[in-house]
Amino acid sequence: MQQVAGIVPFTSIDFPGCLATVVFFQGCPLRCPFCHNPELQIFPGPAGQSWEEVMDFLKGRVKRLDGVVFSGGEPLMSAEIVEKAKAVKAHGFKLAIHTSGVYPERLREMLPFLDWVGLDIKAPWEKYDELCGRPDMVGQVQSSLKILVDSGIDFEARTTCDPRHLIPSDTLKIARDLNERGVKTYALQKYRTFDTDKNPPSVVDIEAFFEPENLSPVQKIYPNLICR
Ligand code: SF4
Repeated sequence: MQQVAGIVPFTSIDFPGCLATVVFFQGCPLRCPFCHNPELQIFPGPAGQSWEEVMDFLKGRVKRLDGVVFSGGEPLMSAEIVEKAKAVKAHGFKLAIHTSGVYPERLREMLPFLDWVGLDIKAPWEKYDELCGRPDMVGQVQSSLKILVDSGIDFEARTTCDPRHLIPSDTLKIARDLNERGVKTYALQKYRTFDTDKNPPSVVDIEAFFEPENLSPVQKIYPNLICR
């Protein structure tokens, strides 16, 4: 049974234009070396909130909250996510999902219920195995990209700039590829260190991705590039 690891009751930064609640689902098939939530990778995990508790919380916020974000972990890992999406939409919420894109067919199944998608593009394709910690995921991610582009749904492709695994020119390579595939919105995210990070990169190396000489070529492809 799909597990809820926890929720963030209110956020204004995880679903563009919406005040939302984020629901984190337990379990992820990937092992990204820069993962901020490694405790969410394992499945099953420790007992979190029940789905009934989450729905009770949401029912109390109808008309006070714009939307709900399904995040993780990987929310598309379980087929049960589709029924949860229906339940959320039935209460009038907009729905977003954060996904690694490794379950393209489930993403397709979810499309009728989704208002926005944040899709991780972890690396140029030739480095994908290293950056997602599992081989042979490229085909699935590329399928998810195509499904999203073809659907016309509002979505963002985003890359976390971890200088231990990417170099600034990787972001240009990714941007060119995404642009050719018809992706309209691209975001670069600074790698953010966290308490249990045993070997954090230097701030200088993180910031290098956002220096004008590295950022400008990407902005030529994506003039509205999002940096966060
Ligand atoms: S896809 Fe997300 S949750 Fe899964 S290992 Fe990578 S960063 Fe962590």
